[in-house]
Amino acid sequence: MQFKDIAGQRDVINRLTEIIDSGRVSHAQMVLGSTADGALQLVLAYLQYLDCTNRQHYEGGELRADSCGECPHCKKMAQMVHPDLHFIFPTAATPRVTGSFWSGDFMQEYREFLQENNARGTVDEWYAHLGIENKQGMIRELDAAHIVQDLGLKSYEGGWKMMVVWMAEKMNTAAANELLKTLEEPTPGTILMLVCESDERLLPTIRSRVQTIKLRAVSGERRAAASSEFASLLVEWLRLLFKLKMKELSAQVDKMSAMNREQQKQFLNYALGVMRDCFMHSAAGTPVEIGSGDQKFDTMFPTMVTVNNVELIEKALDEAIMAVERNANAKIALMQLSFNMSKALKKR
Ligand SMILES: [Zn+2]
Repeated sequence: MQFKDIAGQRDVINRLTEIIDSGRVSHAQMVLGSTADGALQLVLAYLQYLDCTNRQHYEGGELRADSCGECPHCKKMAQMVHPDLHFIFPTAATPRVTGSFWSGDFMQEYREFLQENNARGTVDEWYAHLGIENKQGMIRELDAAHIVQDLGLKSYEGGWKMMVVWMAEKMNTAAANELLKTLEEPTPGTILMLVCESDERLLPTIRSRVQTIKLRAVSGERRAAASSEFASLLVEWLRLLFKLKMKELSAQVDKMSAMNREQQKQFLNYALGVMRDCFMHSAAGTPVEIGSGDQKFDTMFPTMVTVNNVELIEKALDEAIMAVERNANAKIALMQLSFNMSKALKKR
């Protein structure tokens, strides 16, 4: 899979290739988004790019870079026969496979399924492919044991050992606890990529140990949420993060806390989208419209979001979103976010 084969998601892809090129690949990552929107495709293209021996870089195109599609690594990845590429996914007993089983027992079916659907097939389509429509698939302890075992093996090709866990929210508790061990002590040279459609069902301890890449729903890629209300709230807040005058900042946090939880979540997701745009545009040297109505701010602010702090900024916003989701005190969460953001912005 190459990035060019994925519909949309250009900003996310460009940010990822930038991070890979800078050599700062995180050992455990989670792509949060629907498979139909390309979450699994993104993982496959990402892993193909990672060890491609002839990465292509483009000037002025939609994509800043892509794998070559021609080198031995790319070819094995495209055919899904790379010996260092492992998959875990939800399964259930079938007439052919019963008793004690794991994903590896269904690998042939899974490979067919990925190829037939170009890695965009939904979990229900997967169950239909296996003929288990009436059962609930699951990722079991035996699957997690294989994750630990396979990542512990020596790399066959001398590159990254890659493990893809598709529909990570289907892990049962025993599997999740087993997986935690790997996350706590990652083996060097390994990369674990989770694809998750609804992270609310993942253990918080797992969520906090993986770096999250959020996909936008393709249909709403340019969300209507770019409402002027959110834009002015965001700009007022960003300005105060530089001044750090406590009284004003606290008043701004009060204003943000006055929204209901759902609005707070939307606002924080909106802020996350703007930060990603800023990063992409500052990296490409093109202007971005933040919507402050102040040209100086719109020109200056995006340059503050760089490869040095974009991950910290995302982490700060993700943590605040999670705090809002679990009903934490909004004022405390937003104040903490303000300090974290302010610190991150200084690290440009
Ligand atoms: Zn290649």
